[in-house]
Amino acid sequence: MEAPQTPRTRPHEARIETGRPCAIADGLWLLRLPLPFALNHINVYLLDEGDGWTLVDCGIDTPDSRRAWEDALASPPLAGRPLRRIVVTHHHPDHVGLAGWLAARFGIPVFMTAGELAVSGRYADARRDVVAERTPLWFEHGLPRELAVELLQRMPRYALQVHALPAQVATLSTSAPLVLGGRRWRPIVGRGHSPEHLSLLAESGEFMLGGDQVLPQITPNIAVWPGGDANPLRSYLDSLRDFAAIDARTLLLPSHKQPIYGVAARVAELRAHHESRLAAVLAACSAPMTCYEMLPVLFGRPLRNEEIGFGLGEAIAHLNFLEAEGRLASSLDAAGRRRFCIATPPATPPATPERQRRDP
Ligand SMILES: [Zn+2]
Repeated sequence: MEAPQTPRTRPHEARIETGRPCAIADGLWLLRLPLPFALNHINVYLLDEGDGWTLVDCGIDTPDSRRAWEDALASPPLAGRPLRRIVVTHHHPDHVGLAGWLAARFGIPVFMTAGELAVSGRYADARRDVVAERTPLWFEHGLPRELAVELLQRMPRYALQVHALPAQVATLSTSAPLVLGGRRWRPIVGRGHSPEHLSLLAESGEFMLGGDQVLPQITPNIAVWPGGDANPLRSYLDSLRDFAAIDARTLLLPSHKQPIYGVAARVAELRAHHESRLAAVLAACSAPMTCYEMLPVLFGRPLRNEEIGFGLGEAIAHLNFLEAEGRLASSLDAAGRRRFCIATPPATPPATPERQRRDP
């Protein structure tokens, strides 16, 4: 085993270069891989097992991402020390994309939560017709049908960004600690961004492998998709409770951007962000609005075509949240479009003097 490399700078200040593993701590490395999006990278993590590595997340399946892996695998600290197992935080292509490719190359197992494995399998199904599956929801929420079809036809296919997974993927129990890279980790399930997202908190309190559940600088996409959670924002905010209790000295190792301290403080910012978006949506609904009409309100700018799908999903999530809280009501108009409006509060009897005395 090589001598562990001491980080030259504090880990949250480290200069992270794509394709070059960066030491975070003894036996814990960050590898940044390229993504072909506005968000142009993902961080995956390498945990030193002595005779090899546990890998947490894998990168998307693109030629650039494979090239970055080839470079990383040929140089220290990875060269000559194989990957031993893969743990995937959730089913999104940037996280699971190369899991099957790496698993086949090293003959190693892949671990995922049951909830993430199920949706990955559904999305990867070659018989899936994304246009037929999503057009009705997008039409109902105000997108012109032709635009919905055009955007869906252009959306990158999951199966093209995700290499086929091994025939057997091990489902991961989230109720027991995992020992990875010589440390014990407590699984924490996150919801809302994906159905059963896995974060791992080191029992020592030093680190959290956060996945996408809590990100610095950017907010995880919380969106409604057909066949998924109808109120993912509720699920997301509820599951943030487990993250709000994390010690300020725990270093968050996120899937995107730079590691940070202060998970709870970041959770407070994320909550405040959604509160302010909800308030803006509510204010806009004084007249009946479709979700599509709501996009400029929610995002403060016109969305580019390739952003509309995610933006619409995110806007539906905010509208559904407010409707479930009883603050908005919706109905279908004659054209089959769903319009949201401030809910009329249920008539409450005027407070009696006696009630006023009892409930000051
Ligand atoms: Zn994600």
